[in-house]
Amino acid sequence: MTPARDPGYRGRFAPSPTGPLHFGSLLAALGSWLFARRAGGQWLLRVEDLDPPREVAGAARGQLRTLAAFGLEHDGEVTWQHARGALYQDALDRLLASGHAFACHCSRSALAQAGGVHRHCVASAPRPDPALRFRVPPGTRIAFDDAIQGRFEQDVGEAVGDFVLRRADGLWAYQLAVVVDDGEQGITEVVRGADLLESTPRQLLLQRALGLPAPRYAHLPLVVDADGHKLSKSLAARPVDAGDPMPALRAAWQALGQDPRAIAGTASPPALLRQAITAFIPEAIPAGPVR
Ligand code: GLU
Repeated sequence: MTPARDPGYRGRFAPSPTGPLHFGSLLAALGSWLFARRAGGQWLLRVEDLDPPREVAGAARGQLRTLAAFGLEHDGEVTWQHARGALYQDALDRLLASGHAFACHCSRSALAQAGGVHRHCVASAPRPDPALRFRVPPGTRIAFDDAIQGRFEQDVGEAVGDFVLRRADGLWAYQLAVVVDDGEQGITEVVRGADLLESTPRQLLLQRALGLPAPRYAHLPLVVDADGHKLSKSLAARPVDAGDPMPALRAAWQALGQDPRAIAGTASPPALLRQAITAFIPEAIPAGPVR
């Protein structure tokens, strides 16, 4: 686990503005905030608004208001990915120049026929709007030690193949943007939901190719409903109530495996959070799904 005090610690919370903040996002926000505040470090906020078609109007502002109502204060200005295209382009240009990236003319249907995973180009004709992909040679295995999930290994060629950096419609892919931003913002520790565990090997590959340092990773348990379904697919994906933050904050604290007695008797988010920082025990966070 991370040392208790580390003023050089830089963490972040990076929601996508696809709707109101739900309980799973609150868990990621609170978890990443607690790690950063316990270390006496920084907690940055980055709106991952890369995908206008999936974005819900007003969602980003709503999420920021909700975080404020929950007392989760960030450091510095909010970063908006939509304004950072030049940084992503620069990284893509470097990956093209070093031979790590290539233009891909495959159509979706041709790829689907080839099993859906891109291992080599199956395009029959060039297209005017090729996607840009990161080349993953066969046998590319990545392993890392996650602070919560333990050792994680992936054969990236087998699991995902050559992955997209910029889509055929010109939109930037999450994998590239997140690596560029974590690098540019000097993030030392990524604390986020375990749904992104399988993305991490791709991000480690990109960091290597771009000469960026790898942050440490801690993937928080997924929240599931009573039947074990992922929260996003169940009724439990209800937005948290910014008008009544205490019940959701208490529930998030417990979902992180923390002792409810440590925050008992607190009557406002700032009071709860103050006690939470000193009582927080990272080692108590469960790896597995929580209900
Ligand atoms: N924007 C991503 C999401 O909301 C999170 C990205 C990350 O934390 O790396 O799922």
